[in-house]
Amino acid sequence: MTLPAPVPDITPETETFWKATATGRLLIQRCAECERCVWYPRFLCPACHSTDLLWTEASGRGTVHSATVTSRGILDYKDAGSYVLALVELDEGPKMLTNVVECDPAEVFIGQRVEVVFHDTGAGVALPRFRPVTEAVAIPGA
Ligand SMILES: [Zn+2]
Repeated sequence: MTLPAPVPDITPETETFWKATATGRLLIQRCAECERCVWYPRFLCPACHSTDLLWTEASGRGTVHSATVTSRGILDYKDAGSYVLALVELDEGPKMLTNVVECDPAEVFIGQRVEVVFHDTGAGVALPRFRPVTEAVAIPGA
C-alpha cells in the first residue's frame, strides 16, 4: 500500500525547503560560521547560534539510524497498514525523521543504506522519504 502524503504545515523557516521538494531536491541548511549541517530548518545554528545559515542541496543518501514498524496509524495514516517510521542519518550528518518505503517493513535494519524519494502531496510540495539502496562496496585489496 502507498503511504498517504499529507500536506505539511509550511512556515517561513521551512518554505525554501518545501519549495525545493517540488523539484525533487533535498535541501538542508549549513552554518556559514561553524560549517555544521543543520536539520530541521531553523533561524539559528544549534551549535554556535549564528543566524548565517545557508541552503545547500543534500546528496539524498543516508543510513538508517533507528527504525520501527508502525501497524496502527492514526489520522491520515489510519488505513495505511504497516509502515516504517525511521530516523535516517543523512550523509551530511543531520538525522531526519522520515519513512522507509518501497520495501518490506520487516526488512528495514539499522545501518541500512537508503536514498531519498519524493511523494507528491498534490499541493505543490512533496514529502521526502527514503528507500533501500544497494551500493557497490570497495573491497580493500581486491
Ligand atoms: Zn554554527
